[in-house]
Amino acid sequence: MRHSVSPALILSVHPTLAGHRVVTLLGPERGVYQAMLFGGTKSKLRALVSPWHTGTVWLYDDHKIDLPKITDFDPASFRPGIRESLYNTWAASLASELVIQTRASGEYGRCWILVNAFLDGMDGAEHNDLRPALLRFLWRYLGLLGVRPGTGVCVRCETALGGGVYAPGESGFVCAACGGGREAPAGGLAVSDSALGYLRAVSTARPGAARVLVLAAGDQESLRALLFYLIQQAVGGLKTLETGRDVL
Ligand SMILES: [Zn+2]
Repeated sequence: MRHSVSPALILSVHPTLAGHRVVTLLGPERGVYQAMLFGGTKSKLRALVSPWHTGTVWLYDDHKIDLPKITDFDPASFRPGIRESLYNTWAASLASELVIQTRASGEYGRCWILVNAFLDGMDGAEHNDLRPALLRFLWRYLGLLGVRPGTGVCVRCETALGGGVYAPGESGFVCAACGGGREAPAGGLAVSDSALGYLRAVSTARPGAARVLVLAAGDQESLRALLFYLIQQAVGGLKTLETGRDVL
């Protein structure tokens, strides 16, 4: 098929030495792919094809060049609010990098819904409300990757977890009794009963319901440490996460 029309989210745009652009896109059926965008700085299309715009892309593939060519793009969603805040821009960049690095985990349709919903949230709400949104996104993304640790029972003694400690060596949570004293796991990350309850609720609640869950300040800190750790373990070498520590 030479010409195609499909829904697309622009994940990233990189200039080439020749003055063109290599665009990385996500499609609900096509997954993560690259396409070329030709045209000068005044091109209208060039302004439309920008990170975190979602819409319809027209592609032409002549099989002579390596990448298909973007012939048109019609954004249904521009999300200008993302660029209004350094934090939002950083969080959206992290989402893009995660999707690109993991190739949407091969779950294109689910990833499409998850990432678009996250970016819609980054576009709208107040700065202070968005940190829990990133934590929920990362926890859901770990689920998409199939590497989310269980929050039900201790990985050592299998009793129901209240609070506990994430044990990196055991890839799961241990209860307070197992994780205390000399048995404490190396590099363990402590999480309270309420923080674990928050993760459980995010796993099962619809996004609209999860958004109104309250996360205490202390829990937000511990979950941030845990989720950044887990996502780095799962994906590794996320530049956005490494460079963003000072921004946060
Ligand atoms: Zn235990």
